[in-house]
Amino acid sequence: MATSSALVLFSGGQDSAVCLAWALARYERVETVAFDYRQRHRVELDCRGVFLSKLREQFPAWEAKLGEDRVLDLGVLGEVSDTALTREQAIGFAESGLPSTFVPGRNLVFLTFAGAMAYRRGLNVLVGGMCETDYSGYPDCRRATMDAMAKAMTLGMDRSMPVETPLMSLDKAQTWALADDLGGGALVGLIVEETHTCYLGDRSQRHDWGYGCGTCPACDLRAKGWAKWRAGR
Ligand code: ZN
Repeated sequence: MATSSALVLFSGGQDSAVCLAWALARYERVETVAFDYRQRHRVELDCRGVFLSKLREQFPAWEAKLGEDRVLDLGVLGEVSDTALTREQAIGFAESGLPSTFVPGRNLVFLTFAGAMAYRRGLNVLVGGMCETDYSGYPDCRRATMDAMAKAMTLGMDRSMPVETPLMSLDKAQTWALADDLGGGALVGLIVEETHTCYLGDRSQRHDWGYGCGTCPACDLRAKGWAKWRAGR
């Protein structure tokens, strides 16, 4: 019987870390991938290695399933985003209601490369932390977008390529709760210490919920979710 296996898009942030644990609890073999597109907060990429090695240390059952990790260079995506951010288009983004952090097409590109890698590696499904509950501004995080991408990849590669999004309908409090369900206090602690969410890349300030500036939209969401989860326990 074929091994059930997954490729997790693991950026080093809170959401993708929970997705990684979710996949390790569910699949027999799991590999990870991240994309370097010259993102402003490269600290997220730096967190990945530490998180992965501590996860291996603290969860031996998952260590046995966790395969290779890769970081793909997609610098060209940063190039396209930069040149597209002209004054006129920047205003257009604001008028559309999308946050200025929106990188057009980002998840579409990520999924396509992840799909190609999964094909080559013989992995059955893609797993990503896309979520439409908190980040309603990002059209490439919607389930409908994932379904369309899964269909395009399945057709274009002539192989089933489902895209699993376990956090799609969860808010940030529920994401903390899921981490607790999957790996208890050890996993929650690891996510607090070794994942990164802050848009400004700040790792100098330590809060209950982890490191960050504490005021950017990403920190705000993470902090509020943490507070709500703690209050509801
Ligand atoms: Zn921040």
